Formats: sequence, C-alpha cells, structure tokens
Amino acid sequence: MADSKKNTVTQQPVQHITKKCPYCLTYLKLGDEKCYSCGAKVGKVDKLGFAQKPFNWKGYTISIIAWIAFLVYLWWAFFQNK
Ligand SMILES: [Zn+2]
Repeated sequence: MADSKKNTVTQQPVQHITKKCPYCLTYLKLGDEKCYSCGAKVGKVDKLGFAQKPFNWKGYTISIIAWIAFLVYLWWAFFQNK
C-alpha cells in the first residue's frame, strides 16, 4: 500500500484576460488605463474581473473645500449677529 497522497492542486491567483469598465461595463484590455467607451480612468483588474476605480483626488479635494466653505459660512452667519 504505497499510495502517496499527491496534492497537486496549486492555488493560483485568478487570471483575467480582460477587465470590465466599472462605469459602462465595456470589456477592456488588462493594460488599459482609460475606458475607450466612456473615457473614465480605470485601475487594475480586481478578482471579479472589474477594473478598479482609481481614487479621485480632484473630486475629494473639491468636496473638502466645499465643506470648509460651508462651515465658514455657517460660522460667519452665526457670529455676525451681535
Ligand atoms: Zn467605460
């Protein structure tokens, strides 16, 4: 009974040939950084086959500035009336 247990199952990371644009679901090449269909910037492929959405620094900064302006306005509105 020389039955050696061979565990030949190797765990490989899922290999995708294409990735999907998360905005318009167009199939893109893995190396693409921009969707040719909707023009959105896309990141690397995730394990589901979708391209990741790159972090939107511009929108984030604008959002913070808008919030600060809003808070300054509130502060100004409340402390003007004496
Ligand atoms: Zn797209």
